[in-house]
Amino acid sequence: MEILRYPDRHEWSRLTARAMASQASQVAATVRSIMDDVASRGDEALREYELRFTGSSLSDFAVSDEEIERASSLLSPALRHAIESAAQNIADFHRAEIPSPVTVETQPGVICMQRPVAIERVGLYIPGGNSPLFSTVLMLAVPAVIAGCPYIELCTPAGSDGNIHLAILYAAKVAGVGRIFRTGGAQAIAAMTFGTESIPRVDKIFGPGNRYVMEAKQQATLHGCAIDMPAGPSEVLVIADSNANPTFVASDFLSQAEHGPDSQSILLTTSEKLLDILPGVIDEMLDALPRRDMMLHSLDHSRLILMHDDDEMMEFSNQYAPEHLILNHRDADRLCGNVRNAGSVFIGPWSPESAGDYASGTNHTLPTSGYARAYSGVNIDSFMKKITFQKLTADGIATLAPVVVAMAEAESLDAHALAAKVRTSAGNQILQ
Ligand code: NAD
Repeated sequence: MEILRYPDRHEWSRLTARAMASQASQVAATVRSIMDDVASRGDEALREYELRFTGSSLSDFAVSDEEIERASSLLSPALRHAIESAAQNIADFHRAEIPSPVTVETQPGVICMQRPVAIERVGLYIPGGNSPLFSTVLMLAVPAVIAGCPYIELCTPAGSDGNIHLAILYAAKVAGVGRIFRTGGAQAIAAMTFGTESIPRVDKIFGPGNRYVMEAKQQATLHGCAIDMPAGPSEVLVIADSNANPTFVASDFLSQAEHGPDSQSILLTTSEKLLDILPGVIDEMLDALPRRDMMLHSLDHSRLILMHDDDEMMEFSNQYAPEHLILNHRDADRLCGNVRNAGSVFIGPWSPESAGDYASGTNHTLPTSGYARAYSGVNIDSFMKKITFQKLTADGIATLAPVVVAMAEAESLDAHALAAKVRTSAGNQILQ
């Protein structure tokens, strides 16, 4: 963990860089060969990669209805209840996001409309390497169902015994996923992009994953498949003042570190005292956590940074563009007004990131690696296209035609101009 006091601004570009950027070209090459292989050899290639990466020897990728039913009966009532409660909050929030159709008569007789239409075939990727992220099933499938996507498939890596975690199957059942396939990593993304004998191709792929998954999703866009966003290794930036409880701050810091060795946590504070005591609190907490070894890797590229004032902290945060931003600060509400780049923001001491990760209602599939500068997290819009429609009357085209004709002729697109002219009375006369 790096501890810095008042770093110079010329150091900020290094401090806001992500660790994974350094191996990007090697990951890209590995993923390209997996994508090509799955595109040409389909299921056979998938089987080989699953054996290599998860140790599972798969005869069938599709999960049967019986397996899903069995999962429901084996899961504890407490976890079933938690999954159902979280699903309810996520559904409530995402239902409120449904966009309304738009109709505007821009000028008499010129009626323009926009209608949201669900994407037909969506593929959800559920990470399963380090943890079975069944919460992600809810975050993706609940909005997909609310948006009205007619076909929803899900891919996730199986364990070495070929089984998928019970909670993933149960969450998929609660959310209403159509088909579940046991395959993960770049090969799963390739399967959803190109289609294989067992796994149908989709129009858009959703979901977070490690660097291989994130790279594969980006390569999928070169083959006509859309993606939600680049959502890779998780990250958090905590802004804390002297009021912040060090235990709260340390626990938020570590909750990201446990996602994987590539995850990153950053603390910005104006309090020397917090900076001094935090490493000790983090160490003490770390010793009691089962994922200590993996978290140490993540903490290697994590940072505690002392800054001069709130403005400087917000400027750094906006430059970093964190996936998660926690404002554990007495003026958290005021600071919110200065957030320009972040995936999701947690306001005040009582809003841990884990609330949003699981159950408050907002989506946890969020842009990482600085993409929060330009991307939103998954939301209802992600599952829809907005199709525009227009209907002009004879009077409408008559009044709009001079504008269209002037612009089309100036662009030397005479056929465009003609299509407007022939619909006006002057145009009709020209033709006769
Ligand atoms: P994963 O399912 O993303 O990846 C596991 C798969 O990666 C393996 O089954 C294998 O197929 C493939 N793989 C592993 N090593 C490989 C190699 N050397 N070469 C090629 N392929 C390889 O699960 P994970 O690894 O646990 O990662 C989950 C990630 O998701 C974490 O980084 C976590 O931070 C991130 N995450 C992000 C968000 C978000 O919203 N951005 C949310 C939740 C989780």
